[in-house]
Amino acid sequence: MRSRLRVLFITSEVYPLCKTGGLGDVSAALPVALRALRTDARLLLPGYPQVLAGVKYQSKVADFSHLTQFPPSTLLSARLSLGGSAAVPVFVIDCPGLFQRTGGPYMDEFGRDWPDNVLRFGLLSKIGAILSSDDSPLAWRPHVAHCNDWQSGLVPAYLHDYPGWKAAVLMTVHNLAYQGIFPPGSVAQLGLPQRSFNIDGVEYYGNLSFLKAGLYYADHITTVSPNYAQEIQTEPLGFGLQGLLAARCDRLTGIVNGIDTCEWDAVTDIHLVKNYSSRSLADKAINKAALQRQMGLAVDAELPLFGAVSRLNYQKGTDLLIQLAPQLLGIPAQLVVLGSGDAALEHQLSVLASNYPDAMAVRIGFDEALSHRVEAGVDCFLMPSRFEPCGLNQMYSQRYGTPPVVHATGGLKDTVIDCVPATLADGSASGFVCASLSSGGLMHTISRAVLAYRNKRTWLRIQQNGMMKDFSWRASAQAYREIYLELSENTVN
Ligand code: ADP
Repeated sequence: MRSRLRVLFITSEVYPLCKTGGLGDVSAALPVALRALRTDARLLLPGYPQVLAGVKYQSKVADFSHLTQFPPSTLLSARLSLGGSAAVPVFVIDCPGLFQRTGGPYMDEFGRDWPDNVLRFGLLSKIGAILSSDDSPLAWRPHVAHCNDWQSGLVPAYLHDYPGWKAAVLMTVHNLAYQGIFPPGSVAQLGLPQRSFNIDGVEYYGNLSFLKAGLYYADHITTVSPNYAQEIQTEPLGFGLQGLLAARCDRLTGIVNGIDTCEWDAVTDIHLVKNYSSRSLADKAINKAALQRQMGLAVDAELPLFGAVSRLNYQKGTDLLIQLAPQLLGIPAQLVVLGSGDAALEHQLSVLASNYPDAMAVRIGFDEALSHRVEAGVDCFLMPSRFEPCGLNQMYSQRYGTPPVVHATGGLKDTVIDCVPATLADGSASGFVCASLSSGGLMHTISRAVLAYRNKRTWLRIQQNGMMKDFSWRASAQAYREIYLELSENTVN
Protein backbone atom coordinates (compact mmCIF):
# COMPACT_ATOMS: atom_id res chain seq x y z
CA MET A 1 0.00 0.00 0.00
CA ARG A 2 1.31 3.47 -0.87
CA SER A 3 2.22 5.92 1.88
CA ARG A 4 -0.19 8.69 2.88
CA LEU A 5 -0.36 11.43 0.28
CA ARG A 6 1.80 14.40 1.30
CA VAL A 7 1.24 17.90 -0.05
CA LEU A 8 3.20 21.09 0.56
CA PHE A 9 0.74 23.96 0.22
CA ILE A 10 2.79 27.06 -0.60
CA THR A 11 1.03 30.36 -0.04
CA SER A 12 1.74 34.02 0.67
CA GLU A 13 -1.29 34.55 2.93
CA VAL A 14 -3.49 32.62 5.31
CA TYR A 15 -6.54 33.76 7.26
CA PRO A 16 -6.65 34.82 10.09
CA LEU A 17 -2.94 35.70 10.27
CA CYS A 18 -2.70 37.54 7.00
CA LYS A 19 -5.36 38.01 4.33
CA THR A 20 -5.83 40.45 1.49
CA GLY A 21 -8.45 38.43 -0.42
CA GLY A 22 -9.78 35.04 -1.35
CA LEU A 23 -6.35 33.35 -1.37
CA GLY A 24 -6.12 33.85 2.40
CA ASP A 25 -9.47 32.11 2.89
CA VAL A 26 -8.60 29.22 0.58
CA SER A 27 -5.22 28.72 2.30
CA ALA A 28 -6.98 28.41 5.64
CA ALA A 29 -9.75 26.07 4.53
CA LEU A 30 -8.39 23.76 1.85
CA PRO A 31 -5.50 22.22 3.85
CA VAL A 32 -7.92 21.48 6.69
CA ALA A 33 -10.41 19.85 4.30
CA LEU A 34 -7.58 17.85 2.72
CA ARG A 35 -6.38 16.62 6.08
CA ALA A 36 -9.90 15.39 6.77
CA LEU A 37 -9.50 13.33 3.59
CA ARG A 38 -6.38 11.54 4.85
CA THR A 39 -3.99 13.89 3.04
CA ASP A 40 -0.95 15.13 4.92
CA ALA A 41 -1.16 18.77 3.78
CA ARG A 42 1.29 21.22 5.34
CA LEU A 43 1.68 24.92 4.68
CA LEU A 44 4.76 26.90 3.73
CA LEU A 45 4.44 30.59 4.63
CA PRO A 46 6.60 33.72 4.73
CA GLY A 47 7.42 34.75 8.31
CA TYR A 48 5.62 38.09 8.42
CA PRO A 49 5.40 39.45 12.00
CA GLN A 50 1.76 38.38 12.32
CA VAL A 51 2.63 34.85 11.16
CA LEU A 52 5.51 34.51 13.63
CA ALA A 53 3.24 35.81 16.38
CA GLY A 54 0.33 33.56 15.42
CA VAL A 55 1.87 30.10 15.06
CA LYS A 56 2.53 27.81 18.01
CA TYR A 57 5.31 25.41 19.05
CA GLN A 58 7.96 26.90 16.79
CA SER A 59 11.20 25.03 16.36
CA LYS A 60 14.02 25.72 13.96
CA VAL A 61 14.41 22.85 11.49
CA ALA A 62 16.70 24.21 8.78
CA ASP A 63 19.12 26.97 7.95
CA PHE A 64 19.18 28.63 4.55
CA SER A 65 22.08 31.03 5.02
CA HIS A 66 23.84 29.30 2.11
CA LEU A 67 21.34 30.76 -0.39
CA THR A 68 23.61 33.59 -1.46
CA GLN A 69 21.01 35.36 -3.62
CA PHE A 70 18.85 36.00 -0.55
CA PRO A 71 19.35 37.44 2.94
CA PRO A 72 19.95 34.72 5.56
CA SER A 73 16.88 32.77 6.62
CA THR A 74 15.87 29.80 8.71
CA LEU A 75 12.92 27.46 8.50
CA LEU A 76 10.64 27.02 11.48
CA SER A 77 8.32 24.10 11.95
CA ALA A 78 5.17 25.11 13.82
CA ARG A 79 1.46 24.52 14.22
CA LEU A 80 -1.43 26.74 13.24
CA SER A 81 -5.00 26.43 14.45
CA LEU A 82 -7.36 26.97 11.54
CA GLY A 83 -11.14 27.15 11.67
CA GLY A 84 -11.47 25.28 14.96
CA SER A 85 -9.73 22.21 13.53
CA ALA A 86 -6.82 20.33 14.99
CA ALA A 87 -3.69 22.41 14.41
CA VAL A 88 -2.16 22.14 10.93
CA PRO A 89 1.61 21.74 10.55
CA VAL A 90 3.20 24.79 8.96
CA PHE A 91 6.68 25.67 7.85
CA VAL A 92 7.54 29.34 8.27
CA ILE A 93 10.40 31.09 6.51
CA ASP A 94 12.00 33.30 9.11
CA CYS A 95 13.88 35.90 7.12
CA PRO A 96 13.97 39.17 9.11
CA GLY A 97 15.65 41.02 6.22
CA LEU A 98 12.68 40.35 3.93
CA PHE A 99 9.62 39.75 6.08
CA GLN A 100 10.08 41.41 9.47
CA ARG A 101 8.36 44.75 8.82
CA THR A 102 5.01 46.43 9.37
CA GLY A 103 2.63 46.87 6.42
CA GLY A 104 0.88 44.38 4.15
CA PRO A 105 2.28 41.24 2.54
CA TYR A 106 2.76 42.89 -0.85
CA MET A 107 2.67 46.61 -0.11
CA ASP A 108 3.68 49.10 2.54
CA GLU A 109 1.14 51.09 4.51
CA PHE A 110 0.96 53.68 1.70
CA GLY A 111 -0.08 51.10 -0.89
CA ARG A 112 3.32 50.96 -2.61
CA ASP A 113 4.64 47.55 -3.66
CA TRP A 114 7.57 46.50 -1.51
CA PRO A 115 10.63 47.24 -3.67
CA ASP A 116 12.12 43.85 -2.82
CA ASN A 117 9.04 41.74 -3.64
CA VAL A 118 11.13 39.90 -6.21
CA LEU A 119 13.35 38.61 -3.40
CA ARG A 120 10.53 38.14 -0.87
CA PHE A 121 8.60 35.80 -3.13
CA GLY A 122 11.68 34.55 -4.94
CA LEU A 123 12.74 33.17 -1.55
CA LEU A 124 9.29 31.67 -0.90
CA SER A 125 9.54 29.89 -4.27
CA LYS A 126 13.16 28.86 -3.80
CA ILE A 127 12.53 27.29 -0.40
CA GLY A 128 9.32 25.72 -1.71
CA ALA A 129 11.40 24.10 -4.44
CA ILE A 130 14.12 22.91 -2.06
CA LEU A 131 11.57 21.31 0.27
CA SER A 132 10.05 19.57 -2.77
CA SER A 133 13.29 17.92 -3.86
CA ASP A 134 15.83 15.51 -2.45
CA ASP A 135 17.93 18.55 -1.54
CA SER A 136 15.48 19.12 1.28
CA PRO A 137 16.97 19.26 4.77
CA LEU A 138 13.73 17.70 6.08
CA ALA A 139 12.78 14.05 6.33
CA TRP A 140 9.22 15.00 5.36
CA ARG A 141 9.00 15.17 1.56
CA PRO A 142 5.81 16.06 -0.31
CA HIS A 143 4.52 14.11 -3.29
CA VAL A 144 3.04 17.34 -4.62
CA ALA A 145 4.07 20.99 -4.24
CA HIS A 146 0.85 22.98 -4.50
CA CYS A 147 1.69 26.54 -5.56
CA ASN A 148 -0.75 29.41 -5.35
CA ASP A 149 -0.67 32.53 -7.53
CA TRP A 150 2.43 34.34 -8.70
CA GLN A 151 4.11 34.48 -5.31
CA SER A 152 5.04 30.79 -5.54
CA GLY A 153 5.10 30.61 -9.34
CA LEU A 154 8.85 30.09 -9.54
CA VAL A 155 8.77 26.77 -7.66
CA PRO A 156 8.46 24.66 -10.84
CA ALA A 157 10.98 26.90 -12.63
CA TYR A 158 13.55 26.21 -9.91
CA LEU A 159 12.70 22.50 -10.02
CA HIS A 160 12.69 22.22 -13.80
CA ASP A 161 16.37 21.40 -14.32
CA TYR A 162 16.80 19.69 -11.00
CA PRO A 163 18.41 16.31 -11.71
CA GLY A 164 17.37 14.39 -8.59
CA TRP A 165 14.02 13.39 -7.12
CA LYS A 166 11.41 16.12 -7.07
CA ALA A 167 7.74 16.46 -6.26
CA ALA A 168 5.12 17.09 -8.91
CA VAL A 169 3.90 20.68 -9.07
CA LEU A 170 0.32 21.88 -9.13
CA MET A 171 -0.14 25.57 -9.87
CA THR A 172 -3.41 27.18 -8.84
CA VAL A 173 -4.48 30.50 -10.28
CA HIS A 174 -6.66 32.44 -7.88
CA ASN A 175 -6.52 35.60 -9.97
CA LEU A 176 -4.72 35.86 -13.30
CA ALA A 177 -4.66 39.65 -13.10
CA TYR A 178 -1.74 39.59 -10.66
CA GLN A 179 1.32 38.16 -12.35
CA GLY A 180 4.48 39.12 -10.46
CA ILE A 181 6.34 40.84 -13.29
CA PHE A 182 9.90 42.00 -12.70
CA PRO A 183 12.72 43.36 -14.89
CA PRO A 184 14.87 40.92 -16.87
CA GLY A 185 17.83 41.37 -14.51
CA SER A 186 15.79 39.51 -11.88
CA VAL A 187 16.56 36.22 -13.64
CA ALA A 188 20.23 36.39 -12.63
CA GLN A 189 19.38 38.01 -9.30
CA LEU A 190 17.23 34.99 -8.38
CA GLY A 191 19.74 32.45 -9.63
CA LEU A 192 17.50 31.14 -12.41
CA PRO A 193 19.27 29.79 -15.48
CA GLN A 194 19.63 32.47 -18.16
CA ARG A 195 18.34 30.05 -20.79
CA SER A 196 14.98 29.96 -19.00
CA PHE A 197 14.52 33.62 -19.99
CA ASN A 198 12.74 32.58 -23.10
CA ILE A 199 9.25 32.38 -24.54
CA ASP A 200 9.43 28.69 -23.57
CA GLY A 201 10.24 29.59 -19.99
CA VAL A 202 9.92 32.45 -17.53
CA GLU A 203 9.97 35.36 -20.00
CA TYR A 204 6.85 37.43 -20.57
CA TYR A 205 7.05 40.32 -23.03
CA GLY A 206 10.68 41.04 -22.16
CA ASN A 207 10.29 40.70 -18.39
CA LEU A 208 10.32 37.90 -15.85
CA SER A 209 6.81 36.75 -14.90
CA PHE A 210 6.49 34.56 -11.82
CA LEU A 211 2.98 33.51 -12.82
CA LYS A 212 3.86 32.66 -16.39
CA ALA A 213 6.77 30.58 -15.10
CA GLY A 214 4.37 28.65 -12.91
CA LEU A 215 1.87 28.11 -15.71
CA TYR A 216 4.57 27.04 -18.11
CA TYR A 217 6.48 24.61 -15.90
CA ALA A 218 3.81 23.18 -13.57
CA ASP A 219 2.71 19.60 -14.14
CA HIS A 220 -0.91 20.63 -13.78
CA ILE A 221 -2.82 23.90 -13.48
CA THR A 222 -6.04 24.53 -11.66
CA THR A 223 -8.11 27.61 -11.29
CA VAL A 224 -10.93 28.36 -8.94
CA SER A 225 -14.01 27.73 -11.05
CA PRO A 226 -14.80 25.76 -14.23
CA ASN A 227 -16.14 28.86 -15.98
CA TYR A 228 -13.00 30.91 -15.18
CA ALA A 229 -10.89 28.02 -16.53
CA GLN A 230 -12.61 28.58 -19.88
CA GLU A 231 -12.52 32.39 -19.72
CA ILE A 232 -8.77 32.63 -19.14
CA GLN A 233 -8.14 30.83 -22.40
CA THR A 234 -9.66 33.75 -24.26
CA GLU A 235 -8.53 37.25 -25.08
CA PRO A 236 -10.43 39.51 -22.71
CA LEU A 237 -9.62 37.59 -19.53
CA GLY A 238 -6.39 35.81 -20.44
CA PHE A 239 -4.21 38.86 -19.61
CA GLY A 240 -1.81 37.92 -22.37
CA LEU A 241 -1.52 34.33 -21.11
CA GLN A 242 -4.51 32.96 -23.04
CA GLY A 243 -2.29 31.33 -25.67
CA LEU A 244 -0.23 29.45 -23.11
CA LEU A 245 -3.34 28.43 -21.18
CA ALA A 246 -5.16 27.27 -24.30
CA ALA A 247 -2.08 25.27 -25.31
CA ARG A 248 -2.12 23.61 -21.88
CA CYS A 249 -5.90 23.13 -21.69
CA ASP A 250 -5.50 19.35 -21.27
CA ARG A 251 -3.66 20.11 -18.02
CA LEU A 252 -6.05 22.84 -16.83
CA THR A 253 -8.94 22.10 -14.47
CA GLY A 254 -11.46 24.41 -12.82
CA ILE A 255 -12.36 23.51 -9.24
CA VAL A 256 -14.76 25.83 -7.52
CA ASN A 257 -13.71 27.05 -4.08
CA GLY A 258 -15.66 26.05 -1.03
CA ILE A 259 -16.25 28.36 1.90
CA ASP A 260 -15.46 28.00 5.56
CA THR A 261 -18.85 26.80 6.74
CA CYS A 262 -17.90 27.19 10.43
CA GLU A 263 -16.85 30.84 10.09
CA TRP A 264 -19.82 31.55 7.84
CA ASP A 265 -22.82 30.03 9.55
CA ALA A 266 -25.75 32.29 10.43
CA VAL A 267 -26.79 29.81 13.13
CA THR A 268 -23.59 30.27 15.14
CA ASP A 269 -21.95 33.45 13.78
CA ILE A 270 -20.64 35.37 16.81
CA HIS A 271 -20.72 38.69 14.92
CA LEU A 272 -24.49 38.73 14.46
CA VAL A 273 -26.95 40.50 16.71
CA LYS A 274 -29.32 37.55 16.31
CA ASN A 275 -28.51 34.12 14.91
CA TYR A 276 -30.98 32.51 12.51
CA SER A 277 -31.48 29.56 10.21
CA SER A 278 -33.53 28.81 7.10
CA ARG A 279 -36.40 27.97 9.45
CA SER A 280 -36.20 31.22 11.44
CA LEU A 281 -35.63 33.75 8.68
CA ALA A 282 -37.85 36.25 10.50
CA ASP A 283 -34.86 36.74 12.83
CA LYS A 284 -32.81 37.97 9.90
CA ALA A 285 -34.89 41.16 10.13
CA ILE A 286 -33.36 41.85 13.55
CA ASN A 287 -29.94 41.90 11.91
CA LYS A 288 -31.25 44.20 9.20
CA ALA A 289 -32.55 46.72 11.74
CA ALA A 290 -29.29 46.52 13.71
CA LEU A 291 -27.24 47.12 10.58
CA GLN A 292 -29.41 50.07 9.53
CA ARG A 293 -28.93 51.53 13.01
CA GLN A 294 -25.18 50.86 13.10
CA MET A 295 -24.68 52.45 9.69
CA GLY A 296 -26.86 55.48 10.49
CA LEU A 297 -29.57 54.60 7.95
CA ALA A 298 -33.31 54.99 8.42
CA VAL A 299 -34.53 51.86 10.23
CA ASP A 300 -37.13 50.48 7.86
CA ALA A 301 -38.04 46.81 7.57
CA GLU A 302 -39.73 47.15 4.17
CA LEU A 303 -37.18 49.08 2.12
CA PRO A 304 -34.93 46.68 0.22
CA LEU A 305 -31.42 46.99 1.66
CA PHE A 306 -28.56 46.21 -0.74
CA GLY A 307 -24.99 45.58 0.32
CA ALA A 308 -21.51 45.11 -1.05
CA VAL A 309 -18.29 44.01 0.66
CA SER A 310 -15.30 44.08 -1.59
CA ARG A 311 -12.03 45.47 -2.69
CA LEU A 312 -12.93 48.72 -4.41
CA ASN A 313 -11.52 48.62 -7.90
CA TYR A 314 -12.19 48.18 -11.60
CA GLN A 315 -12.33 44.36 -11.38
CA LYS A 316 -15.06 44.51 -8.77
CA GLY A 317 -17.09 46.99 -10.85
CA THR A 318 -17.06 49.61 -8.09
CA ASP A 319 -17.35 52.35 -10.73
CA LEU A 320 -20.57 50.73 -12.02
CA LEU A 321 -21.94 50.57 -8.51
CA ILE A 322 -21.21 54.28 -8.06
CA GLN A 323 -22.87 55.06 -11.40
CA LEU A 324 -26.09 53.25 -10.63
CA ALA A 325 -26.34 54.07 -6.91
CA PRO A 326 -28.59 57.17 -7.35
CA GLN A 327 -31.00 55.12 -9.47
CA LEU A 328 -30.94 52.23 -7.02
CA LEU A 329 -31.61 54.54 -4.07
CA GLY A 330 -34.47 56.06 -6.04
CA ILE A 331 -36.33 52.70 -6.25
CA PRO A 332 -36.51 53.46 -3.22
CA ALA A 333 -33.89 51.26 -1.58
CA GLN A 334 -30.89 51.52 0.71
CA LEU A 335 -27.25 50.67 0.12
CA VAL A 336 -24.38 49.72 2.43
CA VAL A 337 -20.82 49.41 1.11
CA LEU A 338 -17.83 48.07 3.03
CA GLY A 339 -14.50 48.05 1.27
CA SER A 340 -11.16 49.57 0.57
CA GLY A 341 -8.95 49.95 -2.45
CA ASP A 342 -8.63 52.57 -5.16
CA ALA A 343 -8.43 55.96 -3.38
CA ALA A 344 -10.50 57.78 -6.04
CA LEU A 345 -13.29 55.21 -5.79
CA GLU A 346 -13.19 55.34 -1.99
CA HIS A 347 -13.59 59.11 -2.19
CA GLN A 348 -16.43 59.01 -4.74
CA LEU A 349 -18.34 56.49 -2.64
CA SER A 350 -17.93 58.55 0.52
CA VAL A 351 -19.10 61.74 -1.22
CA LEU A 352 -22.09 59.90 -2.66
CA ALA A 353 -23.06 58.52 0.74
CA SER A 354 -22.89 61.98 2.29
CA ASN A 355 -25.55 63.07 -0.23
CA TYR A 356 -27.93 60.31 0.92
CA PRO A 357 -27.42 60.11 4.70
CA ASP A 358 -30.57 58.06 5.40
CA ALA A 359 -30.22 55.71 2.47
CA MET A 360 -26.56 55.04 1.77
CA ALA A 361 -23.66 54.28 4.09
CA VAL A 362 -20.04 53.58 3.27
CA ARG A 363 -17.30 52.21 5.51
CA ILE A 364 -13.82 52.40 4.11
CA GLY A 365 -11.50 49.80 5.59
CA PHE A 366 -11.24 46.09 6.22
CA ASP A 367 -13.64 44.92 8.92
CA GLU A 368 -14.25 41.20 9.26
CA ALA A 369 -17.03 41.54 11.87
CA LEU A 370 -18.91 44.15 9.85
CA SER A 371 -18.61 42.00 6.71
CA HIS A 372 -20.54 39.27 8.55
CA ARG A 373 -23.15 41.77 9.70
CA VAL A 374 -23.59 43.05 6.17
CA GLU A 375 -24.05 39.53 4.82
CA ALA A 376 -26.71 38.84 7.44
CA GLY A 377 -28.32 42.27 7.56
CA VAL A 378 -28.86 43.20 3.93
CA ASP A 379 -31.66 41.78 1.80
CA CYS A 380 -29.66 41.45 -1.36
CA PHE A 381 -25.90 41.37 -2.04
CA LEU A 382 -24.33 43.13 -5.05
CA MET A 383 -21.37 41.73 -7.01
CA PRO A 384 -21.03 43.59 -10.31
CA SER A 385 -17.52 42.19 -10.92
CA ARG A 386 -16.12 42.57 -14.43
CA PHE A 387 -14.37 39.28 -13.81
CA GLU A 388 -14.37 37.04 -10.78
CA PRO A 389 -12.23 33.89 -10.72
CA CYS A 390 -14.45 32.32 -8.06
CA GLY A 391 -15.70 34.86 -5.56
CA LEU A 392 -16.66 34.01 -2.01
CA ASN A 393 -19.21 36.60 -1.01
CA GLN A 394 -21.87 35.30 -3.36
CA MET A 395 -21.61 31.94 -1.56
CA TYR A 396 -21.65 33.55 1.90
CA SER A 397 -24.73 35.52 0.78
CA GLN A 398 -26.67 32.48 -0.37
CA ARG A 399 -25.81 30.71 2.87
CA TYR A 400 -27.08 33.70 4.84
CA GLY A 401 -30.42 33.93 3.01
CA THR A 402 -29.25 37.05 1.17
CA PRO A 403 -29.78 36.41 -2.55
CA PRO A 404 -26.97 37.96 -4.59
CA VAL A 405 -27.16 40.03 -7.76
CA VAL A 406 -24.11 39.05 -9.82
CA HIS A 407 -22.57 39.46 -13.25
CA ALA A 408 -22.47 36.22 -15.28
CA THR A 409 -18.71 35.83 -15.07
CA GLY A 410 -16.22 33.32 -13.67
CA GLY A 411 -17.27 31.56 -10.52
CA LEU A 412 -20.29 33.83 -10.06
CA LYS A 413 -21.87 32.11 -13.05
CA ASP A 414 -20.97 28.67 -11.66
CA THR A 415 -22.37 29.26 -8.18
CA VAL A 416 -25.50 31.42 -8.54
CA ILE A 417 -28.62 30.14 -10.28
CA ASP A 418 -30.61 32.94 -11.88
CA CYS A 419 -34.18 33.34 -10.74
CA VAL A 420 -36.47 32.70 -13.73
CA PRO A 421 -39.78 30.80 -13.80
CA ALA A 422 -38.09 27.47 -14.60
CA THR A 423 -35.52 27.69 -11.77
CA LEU A 424 -38.16 28.91 -9.34
CA ALA A 425 -40.25 25.90 -10.27
CA ASP A 426 -37.43 23.36 -9.89
CA GLY A 427 -36.22 24.87 -6.62
CA SER A 428 -32.78 25.94 -7.81
CA ALA A 429 -33.17 29.75 -8.15
CA SER A 430 -30.78 31.32 -5.65
CA GLY A 431 -30.02 34.82 -6.96
CA PHE A 432 -30.09 37.17 -9.93
CA VAL A 433 -27.59 36.89 -12.75
CA CYS A 434 -26.89 39.81 -15.06
CA ALA A 435 -25.87 38.65 -18.53
CA SER A 436 -24.37 41.89 -19.83
CA LEU A 437 -22.51 44.20 -17.54
CA SER A 438 -23.46 47.84 -17.94
CA SER A 439 -25.15 50.10 -15.44
CA GLY A 440 -28.37 49.62 -17.49
CA GLY A 441 -28.06 45.81 -17.54
CA LEU A 442 -27.26 45.78 -13.86
CA MET A 443 -30.17 48.04 -13.01
CA HIS A 444 -32.49 45.74 -14.94
CA THR A 445 -31.28 42.77 -12.88
CA ILE A 446 -31.63 44.75 -9.65
CA SER A 447 -35.22 45.60 -10.65
CA ARG A 448 -35.92 41.88 -11.12
CA ALA A 449 -34.57 41.28 -7.61
CA VAL A 450 -36.73 44.04 -6.13
CA LEU A 451 -39.80 42.63 -7.85
CA ALA A 452 -39.10 39.20 -6.33
CA TYR A 453 -38.36 40.81 -2.95
CA ARG A 454 -41.82 42.34 -2.90
CA ASN A 455 -43.41 38.91 -3.23
CA LYS A 456 -42.67 37.50 0.22
CA ARG A 457 -43.35 33.87 -0.74
CA THR A 458 -41.14 33.98 -3.80
CA TRP A 459 -38.37 35.70 -1.82
CA LEU A 460 -38.52 33.12 0.95
CA ARG A 461 -38.14 30.34 -1.61
CA ILE A 462 -35.09 31.98 -3.19
CA GLN A 463 -33.58 32.53 0.26
CA GLN A 464 -34.18 28.93 1.32
CA ASN A 465 -32.90 27.51 -1.99
CA GLY A 466 -29.60 29.33 -1.43
CA MET A 467 -29.36 28.33 2.22
CA MET A 468 -29.80 24.67 1.33
CA LYS A 469 -26.83 24.57 -1.07
CA ASP A 470 -23.67 22.77 -0.05
CA PHE A 471 -20.76 25.20 -0.36
CA SER A 472 -18.45 23.23 1.93
CA TRP A 473 -14.89 22.41 0.95
CA ARG A 474 -15.41 18.66 1.00
CA ALA A 475 -16.24 18.13 -2.69
CA SER A 476 -13.57 20.57 -3.86
CA ALA A 477 -10.92 19.05 -1.60
CA GLN A 478 -11.78 15.65 -3.05
CA ALA A 479 -11.28 17.04 -6.57
CA TYR A 480 -7.85 18.42 -5.59
CA ARG A 481 -6.96 15.10 -3.99
CA GLU A 482 -7.74 13.28 -7.22
CA ILE A 483 -5.38 15.56 -9.12
CA TYR A 484 -2.67 15.10 -6.48
CA LEU A 485 -3.07 11.32 -6.73
CA GLU A 486 -2.74 11.38 -10.48
CA LEU A 487 0.32 13.64 -10.31
CA SER A 488 1.99 11.70 -7.55
CA GLU A 489 1.90 8.47 -9.55
CA ASN A 490 4.93 9.85 -11.35
CA THR A 491 6.84 11.00 -8.30
CA VAL A 492 8.79 8.18 -6.74
CA ASN A 493 9.21 8.57 -3.00
P1 ADP B 1 -11.03 38.73 -3.87
O1 ADP B 1 -10.16 37.60 -3.39
O2 ADP B 1 -10.94 38.98 -5.33
O3 ADP B 1 -10.86 39.99 -3.07
P2 ADP B 1 -13.27 37.10 -2.97
O4 ADP B 1 -14.74 37.30 -3.02
O5 ADP B 1 -12.76 35.82 -3.53
O6 ADP B 1 -12.57 38.34 -3.67
O7 ADP B 1 -12.81 37.18 -1.48
C1 ADP B 1 -12.84 38.36 -0.79
C2 ADP B 1 -12.81 38.07 0.67
O8 ADP B 1 -12.36 39.22 1.36
C3 ADP B 1 -14.17 37.76 1.21
O9 ADP B 1 -14.02 36.91 2.32
C4 ADP B 1 -14.67 39.15 1.62
O10 ADP B 1 -15.68 39.10 2.59
C5 ADP B 1 -13.43 39.75 2.17
N1 ADP B 1 -13.38 41.20 2.12
C6 ADP B 1 -13.12 41.99 1.06
N2 ADP B 1 -13.11 43.29 1.42
C7 ADP B 1 -13.38 43.33 2.74
C8 ADP B 1 -13.51 44.37 3.72
N3 ADP B 1 -13.35 45.64 3.39
N4 ADP B 1 -13.77 44.03 4.98
C9 ADP B 1 -13.93 42.74 5.34
N5 ADP B 1 -13.82 41.70 4.49
C10 ADP B 1 -13.55 41.99 3.20
